[in-house]
Amino acid sequence: MDTPESRGYRRIATEEAWCTLELMARYHDLLEAGTHNDPGFQNLWGFFAQSQSQRARDLYERIQDIDQRRIADMDATGIDVSLLMLTAPGVQMFSPDEACALARDSNDQLAAAIARHPTRLAGLAAFAPHAPQAGAAEIERGVRQLGLKGALVNSHTQGRYMDDEFFWPIFEACEALDVPLYIHPNSPSPQMVEPFLSRCLDAAIWGFQAETGLHALRLIVSGVFDRFPKLKIVLGHLGEGLPFWLYRIDFMHAGIVRSGRSEGAKPLQRKPSDYLRENFYYTSSGMPWEPAVTLVQQQMGYDRVMYAMDYPYQYVAEEVTAMDQLPLTPAQKRAFFQGNAERIFKL
Ligand code: MN
Repeated sequence: MDTPESRGYRRIATEEAWCTLELMARYHDLLEAGTHNDPGFQNLWGFFAQSQSQRARDLYERIQDIDQRRIADMDATGIDVSLLMLTAPGVQMFSPDEACALARDSNDQLAAAIARHPTRLAGLAAFAPHAPQAGAAEIERGVRQLGLKGALVNSHTQGRYMDDEFFWPIFEACEALDVPLYIHPNSPSPQMVEPFLSRCLDAAIWGFQAETGLHALRLIVSGVFDRFPKLKIVLGHLGEGLPFWLYRIDFMHAGIVRSGRSEGAKPLQRKPSDYLRENFYYTSSGMPWEPAVTLVQQQMGYDRVMYAMDYPYQYVAEEVTAMDQLPLTPAQKRAFFQGNAERIFKL
């Protein structure tokens, strides 16, 4: 029988999605009233919340359960612990006041579920980025009072990116609390989504990583990590393509800075790849593919890459066992599945 003891490590899945009933009801309100201005949201939740296809119905049921069904699915795939986060776009669609209320409620519900399943579940705090002071306070409440392990943002907030100093109270809070901020994908912002839509490329197939890789690079190039040198960011999907691009990002960034080409790209204290190796951590969510995992482990560090499934979007039991076969030493494999997550999220 496959147990943590027999295999030598616990499997901790670090990017697992959930949604409160209340947030899902608000998604339905927006879809049915058409009172939003986000085509990516329309294509994502117009499908998963409204389609009668089997894929949509399965996901719709699974994502709203963080009790018996979730635990049964974890048992069926051999996941020992799930790190839960509020699914995209989360609270960021809503007005700052409503977003704060939804985040608070979802964090309370998440903490209650973790209390019911303390050995199986952990979670990250949702917050409203567009209410930066209140958002920072909610992260602090989530970490200090509710025992959550960091903060979660679903990329852009109504087309705004966190390199804007408006959002920096969030970074101050994460740095002060010494917890990571997970930048999970969202559909491309309204400014960039249009050419993705007609071929259904806006979500996990390509648009999520285009959006989220852009967001991470904006943080680096804007100097966020020179201002917040201890800030820890987690990216899913093996770094949203960035590890594959390290060489060219460094090469081109140096040329842009040297030539004084842009007010928006000032000199940095370190190379872009240095920040990606020193301030960032990576999860394997949705990318259980040996050549890609190996590249990211070798280039970013075996101590920076963590296992994730991306349940329920990519709930495939065979992917877990494929990751068990990675060509790693026992110590590296234990770090990938268990040790890195324990250290980075203080589990
Ligand atoms: Mn995900």
